[in-house]
Amino acid sequence: MNVDQKEINKFSALAHQWWCEDGEFRTLHQVNPLRVSFIEQRVKSLTGLQILDVGCGGGILSEALAKKGAKVTGIDMAKASLKVAKLHLLESDLEVDYRCITAEALADISPESFDVVSSMEMLEHVPEPKSVIKACSELVKEGGWVFFSTLNRNLKSYLLSVVMAEHVLKLIPKGTHEYEKFIKPSELIRSAKEYGLFPKIMKGIHYNPLTKTFSMGGNADVNYIIAFQKA
Ligand code: SAH
Repeated sequence: MNVDQKEINKFSALAHQWWCEDGEFRTLHQVNPLRVSFIEQRVKSLTGLQILDVGCGGGILSEALAKKGAKVTGIDMAKASLKVAKLHLLESDLEVDYRCITAEALADISPESFDVVSSMEMLEHVPEPKSVIKACSELVKEGGWVFFSTLNRNLKSYLLSVVMAEHVLKLIPKGTHEYEKFIKPSELIRSAKEYGLFPKIMKGIHYNPLTKTFSMGGNADVNYIIAFQKA
C-alpha cells in the first residue's frame, strides 16, 4: 500500500487540533479560502459537483467545498482525523462522506466518479506520489479537474518551509516536512501528463511573516498549486 505509517501516526497524534484555528494546523485554515476560490474559478460553480478530497485530514477543505454546495467525499488513512472530521459535521451542520481508504483503492472500485479531485498538501507525505497522481486521474471524469498543492524542492523552499516555518517562526509542527519528499512542478506536471492530466494554471502560495497572511500568485518557488484537466 502506498502509505507511510509514520506520516499517518504523525497526523493522527495531532488530530484533536484539526479545527483549532490558531493551533498546529492554522496555516491550512489561513490558506483555505484561497484554495477554495482557486478551485471555484476553474469550475465556475461548485453547486452539485461530485468532489473527492484525497488526504482530507480533519476536513478543512472538504467542509468549505460542501458549504459551497458540492457533494464531497473525503478520504484519509488516519482514522483519528476522520473521527474528528465526522464529529465536526455535527457542529457545522454540513454533509461530507468521510472514508478511510487510499486513492488507489477507491480508483479500483469507483473510477471516473468525480467532477473534481483535490489533493492538498498530501503528495509530499506519501512514498509514491506518482501512484496517487495516477489514481486521481482514474477517479476524475473525462473533462474533470484535478488540483494538487505541494512544496517545491530547492534551497529556497528548504530554507523557508523547513528552517523558517518549522524552526524559526514555528508556523507548523517540527518534523512536518521531509525535504527529500518535496516535488518540483516540472516533476508533478510530467507525471500528471503521463496519466492524461493536462496543466491549466499554476500559482505560487506565499506567506508574509509581517502581516501573517497568505496570498496566491507570483513565483512557485516554495508552495504552489496546479489545476489539471483530464482530456
Ligand atoms: N488536505 C488537507 C490535509 C493536509 S495534511 C488540507 O490541506 O487541509 C496531509 C494529510 O494527508 C493528512 O491528513 C494525512 O493523514 C493524509 N495522508 C497521508 N498519507 C496518506 C495516504 N497515503 N492516503 C490518504 N491520506 C494520506
